[in-house]
Amino acid sequence: MAARDHFHSVIRIGPVQIGTHRDRHGRTKHTAVCTADGCGWSAPYSSPAAAQLAARTHRCKPR
Ligand SMILES: [Zn+2]
Repeated sequence: MAARDHFHSVIRIGPVQIGTHRDRHGRTKHTAVCTADGCGWSAPYSSPAAAQLAARTHRCKPR
């Protein structure tokens, strides 16, 4: 689970949320996090397009 990052904005695509924030170097980062129970997938991206594509193509692991 991601802790308390300071997200500027969060969008949702299906079960996946993409949070936009800045890292300590001042660069904008986009972190995709799946909120489905039992999945726990998350990944960082350097562009919103990449994060949104990953969110759209993400498939939760079957339990
Ligand atoms: Zn998932």
